[in-house]
Amino acid sequence: MAAAEKASQAKSDFLSSMSHELRTPLHAILGFGQLMETGSPPLTPEQKESARQILKAGWHLLELVNEVLDLAVIEAGKLVMSFELVSLAEVMRECEALVALMAQEHDITLLLPANEISCFVLVDRIRIKQVLINLLSNAIKYNRAGGTVTVSYVAKSAGRISICIADTGAGLTADELTQLFQPFNRLRQEENTEEGTGIGLVVCKRLVELMGGAIGVECAIGEGCVFWIELDRAAPLHAGAETTELMAPSNAEAQTQAGVVQRTLLYVEDNPANLKLIEAIIERQPGIRLLTAPNGMYGIEMARQFLPDLILMDIDLPDISGIKALQKLTQDPATAHIPVIALSANAMPRDIEKGLEAGFLRYLTKPIKIDEFLKILDMRN
Ligand code: MN
Repeated sequence: MAAAEKASQAKSDFLSSMSHELRTPLHAILGFGQLMETGSPPLTPEQKESARQILKAGWHLLELVNEVLDLAVIEAGKLVMSFELVSLAEVMRECEALVALMAQEHDITLLLPANEISCFVLVDRIRIKQVLINLLSNAIKYNRAGGTVTVSYVAKSAGRISICIADTGAGLTADELTQLFQPFNRLRQEENTEEGTGIGLVVCKRLVELMGGAIGVECAIGEGCVFWIELDRAAPLHAGAETTELMAPSNAEAQTQAGVVQRTLLYVEDNPANLKLIEAIIERQPGIRLLTAPNGMYGIEMARQFLPDLILMDIDLPDISGIKALQKLTQDPATAHIPVIALSANAMPRDIEKGLEAGFLRYLTKPIKIDEFLKILDMRN
């Protein structure tokens, strides 16, 4: 028993260190790639195309890393689900926002149910979004130009509900259907230029099953596919008490002042490439002063001295962990009010959960998307 537990712990440690080791270099590749793309002087068309290829391959590699690690975590029985009541209509709107651009690029029209249904399911919010986004992206990618992706809900007996996502692609043969939920299948690879790993659907299946649901597909050649997931309906606890985001409403006054008033950001990070990346990003942001600290204790000192408006904290630091540093900051009345955002390559769901529990305002994972990162910084105006 003890030996089995030790082996399982070793496996889980290995997975999170793999995740960290793979993400750290990707963070630099994707970060500097994005900077290069928009830098000045502008790139020649040829260089632009090269940068685009680097970024495209980089994002794809990140997707692969995520999927492989997800699957490994699930297979090792290490996935921690955090169940909560989730409004289907709300989560679908969030997913729609995330795939809208992709749909536009592929010339696909997204059709969501016009009348909002009031239906709650007891699921892990992050994981259900992951599944829905995966299915929506597939429906967009394996479609035809000018096609549609239609989402519908079908009430099932015994308090179950089905979410159906229909595409207008080429459909699948019976033979292809049997391979669909197998990892690394060669499906759709010959005729389609879209990249896929074949792991996404396997991960989806496992996740849906862990949430007590079922997943399946129906399709007819030439008429597209309908992927569905079926979940238990749950009764809402108290209607209208939806969790509100921590986002402060942007107020006009603060915005007009933004150009004048300098805000200070303190970044605690030991990795020089990561430091350089954030420095390069912030350099282009007027009105933000960046302070950096290479370890936790130094970071705490800087925070006390300069009282920054926001702290960005790495987790793996050479002296004390970012979580420990956060505790010290919150214990000190002088720094307790400063919001602290974690930015870490530790991206396993368990790490994120631990970080949020420790009191970080947000937990960002490397590699970052610069646009999103700047939006989050803005939020603390
Ligand atoms: Mn570090």
